Amino acid sequence: MSKIILTGDRPTGRLHVGHYVGSLKERVKLQNSGKFDEIYIMIADAQALTDNAEHPEKVRQNIMNVALDYLACGIDPEKANIFIQSMVPELTEFTFYYMNLVTVSRVQRNPTVKAEIQQRNFEASIPVGFFCYPISQAADITAFRATAVPVGEDQLPMLEQCKEIVHKFNSVYGETLTEPEIILPSNKACLRLPGIDGKAKMSKSLGNCIYLSDEPEDIKKKVMSMFTDPNHLRVEDPGQVEGNPVFIYLDAFCKDEYFAEFLPDYANLDELKAHYQRGGLGDVKVKKFLNNVMQAELEPIRARRKDWESRKTDVYDILKAGTEVARAKAAQTLHDVKDAMHINYFDDADLLK
Ligand code: ATP
Ligand code: MG
Repeated sequence: MSKIILTGDRPTGRLHVGHYVGSLKERVKLQNSGKFDEIYIMIADAQALTDNAEHPEKVRQNIMNVALDYLACGIDPEKANIFIQSMVPELTEFTFYYMNLVTVSRVQRNPTVKAEIQQRNFEASIPVGFFCYPISQAADITAFRATAVPVGEDQLPMLEQCKEIVHKFNSVYGETLTEPEIILPSNKACLRLPGIDGKAKMSKSLGNCIYLSDEPEDIKKKVMSMFTDPNHLRVEDPGQVEGNPVFIYLDAFCKDEYFAEFLPDYANLDELKAHYQRGGLGDVKVKKFLNNVMQAELEPIRARRKDWESRKTDVYDILKAGTEVARAKAAQTLHDVKDAMHINYFDDADLLK
């Protein structure tokens, strides 16, 4: 069986460091492993419109931002097809048929949908399209026969729901669809990076992000304003590292060599944590170190992004070429799906019998 990756992001803003550690970094690693036969990376504009129907311009403009962020992080158009969801209209057809295989109460139980409805204050007026987005996500994954989906932890319930749709489809219409496997980051801190405000998830919609394209001054301002342990008032107080965003970011980004370079009093993160826990280490010192780490991690990404920004026509061509390949693949799978459902009327001479 071919090994195929499908993953993507909503063009609701520039990409942030949560996307980087939660999914992008893993994608680049998988892409460069040479172990995959096909890689599809989707800019999910149709999904973004499910909760941005009144802001199509925002979605449109962020397509280029997301593409630039991909290329800046090392997604290689020679190895991966970057495509725009709405330009593959076959995906909506899959969604339409899959809707019949899922109950309303099942979608209502999806914990990510629940959390996002609350976050967007949709309780009394959920757009139907938004409610159905886990089903359209199953369409995206299965249309490419994806075997691997590298995403952040918030996507686990989506993958579960997708697998249920695959089972249901195959049991009703015969073995047709491929079951995907979720690939989560192995570093726990990267599963769901918190926002700089300490909220559980850094998210474009919450405005608590450090963006991959932020300038050095913005990064510094954001890091220095980050939430830490609220009970760590004086330098001499013992501090808590668990659940402390500054230490979670260090867990996600810090390498031992950064200590030699920026904070040689400590050999590694364990030593720094131990000092913070026993007291005597101030937040400002830790934040200054985190700022150096973030600057070192983001500098090369920002530089590559600027380079691609000056070649937007090339980026446009990459999107166009990737979308053509994606469309051909989705059309082939849709053909198989319709065959299985016996709704391929004009390919089926038996219809006249
Ligand atoms: P929105 O607020 O518009 O939903 P978002 O910031 O949640 O935006 P998405 O485009 O929904 O971003 O998510 C893209 C990918 O990044 C998904 O795989 C998701 O799991 C991952 N991701 C998003 N936020 C984080 C985070 N804070 N930590 C780890 N992974 C994340
Ligand atoms: Mg999201």
